[in-house]
Amino acid sequence: MTLETDVAIIGSGYSAVALALNLVDLLPPAVKISLVGKAAAQGRGIAYATKAECHLLNVPAGRMSLFADRPNHFLAWLAAQGYPWSAEDFVPRRIYGAYVRDSLDEAMKRTGNRAALTLVDAEALGAAAGQDGGLVFALSDGGRLSARVSALCTGAGTRRLPLPEAAIPAAARPFVVEDPWADAWWERLPADADVLFVGTGLTTVDQLLLLKRRGFRGTMHALSRHGLLPQPHLARRADPVETALVPGGGEVSAMLAALRRQAAATPDWRAVMDGLRPVTQALWQGWSAVQRRRFLRHAASFWNVHRHRMAPAVAEEIEALRRSGQLVIHRGRLEALCLRDGRLAAVLKDGTPLAAHLVVNCTGLDRCTVAASPLLTSLAERGLVRPDPHGLGILVDDAAAVLAGDGARTAGLYALGPLTAGHSWEITAVPDIRVQARAVAARINAEVAAG
Ligand SMILES: Cc1cc2nc3c(=O)[nH]c(=O)nc-3n(C[C@H](O)[C@H](O)[C@H](O)COP(=O)(O)OP(=O)(O)OC[C@H]3O[C@@H](n4cnc5c(N)ncnc54)[C@H](O)[C@@H]3O)c2cc1C
Repeated sequence: MTLETDVAIIGSGYSAVALALNLVDLLPPAVKISLVGKAAAQGRGIAYATKAECHLLNVPAGRMSLFADRPNHFLAWLAAQGYPWSAEDFVPRRIYGAYVRDSLDEAMKRTGNRAALTLVDAEALGAAAGQDGGLVFALSDGGRLSARVSALCTGAGTRRLPLPEAAIPAAARPFVVEDPWADAWWERLPADADVLFVGTGLTTVDQLLLLKRRGFRGTMHALSRHGLLPQPHLARRADPVETALVPGGGEVSAMLAALRRQAAATPDWRAVMDGLRPVTQALWQGWSAVQRRRFLRHAASFWNVHRHRMAPAVAEEIEALRRSGQLVIHRGRLEALCLRDGRLAAVLKDGTPLAAHLVVNCTGLDRCTVAASPLLTSLAERGLVRPDPHGLGILVDDAAAVLAGDGARTAGLYALGPLTAGHSWEITAVPDIRVQARAVAARINAEVAAG
């Protein structure tokens, strides 16, 4: 059966909901919007589906409103639910997921009698150009969805361990957790075994907290190229200071040196990092492909740990784990996995072996590759999307309109969120995505009005 809609939003995490809510505000009531995503993830996506109370937002509540033009929306929702948190607090992500879902339900209720916004409990597995323009999506429930305008909000997805297939022997596979969000892998981990996390970013931090809550007694190893953990937020945030960096203002190394100088001359470097937000996308866009590659290779890890920080309470727990010796951070590159005397061992590039009962892939959700998504692969095969050359999602223009294989716009197709990191670099956090969601909703509204 083919369902017909005016606007299809593919994905149902934060980006999708933020777009849907803006569209409900802007579009005439007769225009039909369909949000496609598996029921369990609707309104939560990967980031806010966690049920663990210890998984906190890494942005204070005062900056997490769904709407850029209504900065107190989340705070008002918290107060209406009787929660005690205020603007500077780091709220459990579970609660934030409830807020996003609640806001979606409220919009559905508002539009209910016009059936303007509907949820489709399915995954979009592929898509092709429709006969009358627009796209026709093949859904996991066997149906089809035809839409005049579509928006891809499929998130960053998950990446596989950064190893060639041949570097993981078949016998080692059962001990490798490729997607830490997909199953309760910790139930397969004896309480006193060793575990190795590949990656030392916020995904690893989440897993460390979970294990600690479960009374895990073994050693937690975490490995990354630079061995850098995210920096902590301060309990009281300093006001951002205006950055000294000017987009298009020179080589990556010179700009980073200027950033370091400014940070050293400011009482708290965080104020300098926070002051970068208004110009970050322009800085990235001012770099050539070679400069972007240089930044990704040499500076992105340092940038990320200073930019995407841990809540203070989380940072204290991680520091305590380190001090006690239960958490050991390793600097190095994973070369292969093998089985030695029936035990799994990770082999680092310098030859060092690291024994572990399980290896958990936490290499990040901030890089979206087209190959990881059947839908994006299908669109790319038809020349309707083009992968970003740095593996940062798909190519879009300044209006978030998707660019086809030939470089022209794919008519009626937009993309939002981490999927557009190739264009904007920093487009993973709520304060950035909500601005994009409003702008894309306005574009779609104009496109629908123009017929
Ligand atoms: C663990 C974690 C914690 C974070 N914490 C914060 C935070 O505290 N503050 C902050 O500002 N940002 C945070 N972020 C950043 C976060 O990425 C964004 O806030 C935002 O959630 C991104 O939303 P998204 O909808 O683009 O992607 P996702 O959350 O990944 O959602 C995409 C959804 O689309 C679904 N999907 C994918 N493909 C298809 C398809 N073909 N058909 C149907 N459905 C599909 C996926 O299953 C998923 O549910 C965090 C990210 C992570 C991973």
